[in-house]
Amino acid sequence: MTCRALLVLALGLAACGHPTRSVHVEVADLVLDADRFAVVADGAKVDHLRVQPVTFEPGVLGGARELPAWLLPHTASLEFTVPQDLAGELELHGGFAFDFVECKRRRADYRDILEAKVERIGEDGPELLWTATLVAEGKTPHGYGWREITGPGGGPLIVHAGDRLRIHSWNLQAHKNLPKFGVAGLSLHVRREVAVETATPERPNVVLVVMDTLSAVHTSTFGNPDATTPHLDMLAARGTAFDAARATSSWTWPSTASILTGLDPAEHGVTKAGTSWLAADIKTLAERLQAADLATAAFTGNRLVSADFHFDQGFDTFRGPDRNEFIDGAELMPPALAWLDDHADERFFLYLHLVDPHRPFAPLPESKIALPGEKPADLPKLMLAQHTGELYPESCAIPDRFERPLLTSMLSARDLAWMDRSYDQAIHTGDIWLGRLVAKLRALGLDDSTVIVFTADHGEESYEHGDIGHGQSLFPELMHVPLVMAGPGVPVGLRVADTVSNAALYGYLGELGERGVATAPSAPNLQAGEPMFYSTSRGQWDGARGQTLLGIESDGWALHLCVEAGAQRLFDLKNDPEQHRDVAAENPDMVARLRAQLLEHQSAAEAGRQTPAALGAGEGAIETLKDIGYL
Ligand SMILES: [Zn+2]
Repeated sequence: MTCRALLVLALGLAACGHPTRSVHVEVADLVLDADRFAVVADGAKVDHLRVQPVTFEPGVLGGARELPAWLLPHTASLEFTVPQDLAGELELHGGFAFDFVECKRRRADYRDILEAKVERIGEDGPELLWTATLVAEGKTPHGYGWREITGPGGGPLIVHAGDRLRIHSWNLQAHKNLPKFGVAGLSLHVRREVAVETATPERPNVVLVVMDTLSAVHTSTFGNPDATTPHLDMLAARGTAFDAARATSSWTWPSTASILTGLDPAEHGVTKAGTSWLAADIKTLAERLQAADLATAAFTGNRLVSADFHFDQGFDTFRGPDRNEFIDGAELMPPALAWLDDHADERFFLYLHLVDPHRPFAPLPESKIALPGEKPADLPKLMLAQHTGELYPESCAIPDRFERPLLTSMLSARDLAWMDRSYDQAIHTGDIWLGRLVAKLRALGLDDSTVIVFTADHGEESYEHGDIGHGQSLFPELMHVPLVMAGPGVPVGLRVADTVSNAALYGYLGELGERGVATAPSAPNLQAGEPMFYSTSRGQWDGARGQTLLGIESDGWALHLCVEAGAQRLFDLKNDPEQHRDVAAENPDMVARLRAQLLEHQSAAEAGRQTPAALGAGEGAIETLKDIGYL
């Protein structure tokens, strides 16, 4: 659940003398729970409440640009009862506004005035709790006036279980074709006092580092002959390394949501722009650890992993991009390290999402010195990705041949080597930030009382299968991710050869936070060796883009299935681990077995989906994807 407003409050001393702190927790997201509400418009009940993302004015509701909102007809009123199962003082959060997209279509001289109210309906009639006047003017977003619901004096509006509330709006002008009116972010929050615990080897801190876009084979820990990741190597030497870890998806949104929820992408539903909202009903790792009274903080450099898409659930402190850009380690690390300084005496969960290996690469000078390389002067100036359209259909026209050499007509071996080298330099820079983190934990004396876990959300392709970037396929350069952990309870010097999904970290780290080392598995059991499942909604298949690809890896075989094409490819991992030769035609029985297993898994995952149906892509979500190069 989100803590969109301020979070950890000052440390205090309770009457018993133990230090406590006040935590602010969302306990109910009301917008996506439409069954609770009755809507009345012009005296008639409206049956279908429409929920869709509405773009917010920046800086309102904690800087969110877009949230699922009810779009109500004017003069509508919305009635609901505060759930009986919630005790104590509850803060009602939420906001009202005109719909931004709708307003942009208006004339420049457009002006409208709206009033909004929240009332408590009692036996003696309605009691006014909050009211605001909204003015919509012209086409600029500043005219749409999101207004946050507040209590007397601007503080939170307090309600109680069983209160019957009415949210009411009306238009003060007699305009026809009024813009839609949104009610968004409506949620109930509580503040609770929790005891401050100091981490011990038995009940350690939890640090989870996800390095965006990091192929395992490009790390020196997992096979790169060049020393790209010396700090990760050291972490592996004092802990456990998983040689065959897999992500659940080949791009950020679904994969990161899986790491933070333990769910398959089909279950958590964060798979494309239109379903990008991480639903409040899902209990995230941060929520579990927050409920276990750990101080929780996230520092993320990827715009997709942001509060705007509800990834801040369970974090007392959440810092992420508020613009459609990546924040590299140089900007992200100082506040993260400062947060550690401030919380060294409290048991904590720190989530760090570093983006240095994501294009565009900006390695530190140290990395260029450590891994020297010169950009070929005659490297084609066009973005190489622009050639993908020509190359990909060509490579796929030969069904058993997805090979990098197809590019050699355009790129020399020197060009290709530079592509690898520039990526490795960026990885080396990411590893420097990991080193700073480890050094800080050591300097604070937290080595023996902190479990640190390192993984990636997905890898990166440099034309191994005719393409560049990520999200486009389920090949190993994208699905094979690093996974290393070290700290109390983690075996030292162990290498795990079996396949594991990094989404299993949710279970391990959740238990570690809740129950400590003694009762969490001593050798982290991440369901090693089970069939691996992964997927992407941004796949390419025979030259077609935006395809849904599903993958399974089991018993030395990998099957990739394109949902739209109804076709699949099979790879023999023992003889062809890098997956260049489709052997489906020679192995129809294996294809049938894996296909059935894959489809059964997928339908079970979809049936277990914990989020409402797609909200539809909001303008802000689409803009985000465009700005960071995904659309
Ligand atoms: Zn990513």
